[in-house]
Amino acid sequence: MSDLSLSDLSGRRALVTGGSRGIGAAIARALARGGADVAITYSSSPDRAAAVVKEIEALGRRAVSIQADSADPAAVQRSVQDAVKALGGLDILVNNAGIARLGPIESMSLEDLDALLHVNVRAVVLASGAAIPHLPKGGRIITIASNVAERVPFPGLTAYSMTKSALTSLTRGLARDLGPRGINVTMVLPGPIDTEMNPADGPLADTLRPMLPLGRYGTPEDIAAAVVFLAGPGGRQITGTGIVVDAGLNA
Ligand code: NAP
Repeated sequence: MSDLSLSDLSGRRALVTGGSRGIGAAIARALARGGADVAITYSSSPDRAAAVVKEIEALGRRAVSIQADSADPAAVQRSVQDAVKALGGLDILVNNAGIARLGPIESMSLEDLDALLHVNVRAVVLASGAAIPHLPKGGRIITIASNVAERVPFPGLTAYSMTKSALTSLTRGLARDLGPRGINVTMVLPGPIDTEMNPADGPLADTLRPMLPLGRYGTPEDIAAAVVFLAGPGGRQITGTGIVVDAGLNA
């Protein structure tokens, strides 16, 4: 394995959930730059999803966008089948779509709690389950969790952190189940990343920035770089664990 081949994704077919903007869009573009054909899902941003598809096509790769609300179990399962059909198979699933709902659990609405559980956890289980029969030897499931899966550094994060911690057990369990088939299952655990979910000039930023040894918010490309590494030949010996990309917040 030469250095040049570490992130070579030529001929690979990937599905990125929530690829219309933010971290998911950066992952989709980076996988395509590595040589992969890419399907993305989105919930409510058809124009932005179409723009990501155009950028990927401009790189000479195939791309398709699929409308699928991660809160809808049938839509999640259908989106995987649609991606398989459009790309002619599936080598890499990136479970990225996610939402944040902050606040104490005693005042969190049932609607918000359900949304967190359905989008951040149930959809990941369902998309992974739908993808598994299609993944070949060398396949990858990569889930975008969060540094708060490991630690809860300030109040109000309880329910969101709980959903991200669930992804840790999912990843470990699937690594055990799928290792014998040569499929790697990993996570990337982002710290604060400048997106619409958590803008670097937003309400959380003044709390978060002083907690970062490196002092800077991350960019979506910082997460995409870790995903490309895990997806490529360089990630072949890594499974059942994750890479924390958090500017040292959890140190
Ligand atoms: P974002 O800027 O809010 O983008 C979210 C993406 O997910 C969009 O493409 C959105 O599609 C899609 N999405 C949201 N709800 C969906 C649903 N119900 N069904 C299908 N797609 C849906 O968020 P982000 O910051 O990029 O976050 C991406 C992932 O990283 C999430 O899992 C998040 O928890 C995790 N994360 C983020 C940070 C951070 O600081 N930003 C830190 C740790 C972990 P539409 O455009 O159609 O709405």
